[in-house]
Amino acid sequence: MLQSKRGLIVGLANANSIAWGIAEAAHKQGAELGFTYLNSAIEKRMRPLAESLKADFIYPCDVNDEASLEALFAGIKEKWGKLDFVIHSVAFAQGEDLKGRFSETSREGFKIAMETSVYSLVALAQRAVPLMDEGGSLLTLSYFGSEKVVQNYNVMGVAKAALEASVRYLAADLGPNNIRVNAISSGAIKTLSARGIHGFTDMLHLTQERAPLKRCVTAQEVGEAAAFLVSDAACAITGEILHVDCGYNIIGM
Ligand code: NAD
Repeated sequence: MLQSKRGLIVGLANANSIAWGIAEAAHKQGAELGFTYLNSAIEKRMRPLAESLKADFIYPCDVNDEASLEALFAGIKEKWGKLDFVIHSVAFAQGEDLKGRFSETSREGFKIAMETSVYSLVALAQRAVPLMDEGGSLLTLSYFGSEKVVQNYNVMGVAKAALEASVRYLAADLGPNNIRVNAISSGAIKTLSARGIHGFTDMLHLTQERAPLKRCVTAQEVGEAAAFLVSDAACAITGEILHVDCGYNIIGM
């Protein structure tokens, strides 16, 4: 599905990352991949993984730092000259904002969550577009807490709602360039970031109990859906938020 496609993966931290499930699936489908890491501690864990998929490059990138983004895309331009897809698998909020009362979120905590988890998609899109002359695809990761209140998800729920709206606005903007923009709303998966959400283990238990498929989704399953969405098989799909959550989102009372 992804033969001769070149894709940038932003957000691989370790073997539990959703980005890893996506990278494995994209590699299996024939994609050539390049990766980024936030800092040297993360690089230590992600480098062997990226190398095992024969990564074309592994560059540092802090999505909140303009110079870092510029250097990344200059590197991609030099290495590949073009880009077919970008996986945005990045989010961050302060631990203190992922528990207790949403109404007590600080101005700074709100800004940090929005900048890292939402604006970063726009910042990546701005720089990817010039490398997508023949069209391309952007994919981000969202969560059900954007649609309904999920205890302790708090500021990240608000950020995911803004992220999903950004997917629609970007899809409308970039459609004429044949660039598609979509999101996967993934079910809960135990990753480094997820462990920062107070009571996350309860979320996993509730999912197993209530989801139609009576289990949690895996990063590999999210990866398979992601590989489809960035492939030409999904060429008429844009602005979409695809739930890959064992059906959890359809359940009311
Ligand atoms: P993860 O911790 O493995 O990945 C998060 C990544 O974000 C890390 O690689 C981290 O280095 C990166 N990151 C944070 N700040 C950054 C910055 N300033 N610059 C560059 N990179 C930065 O966790 P994950 O669960 O795989 O998260 C990936 C995405 O999936 C996130 O958007 C998350 O909200 C979303 N998601 C996760 C779940 C879940 O239950 N795990 C469910 C739905 C959606």
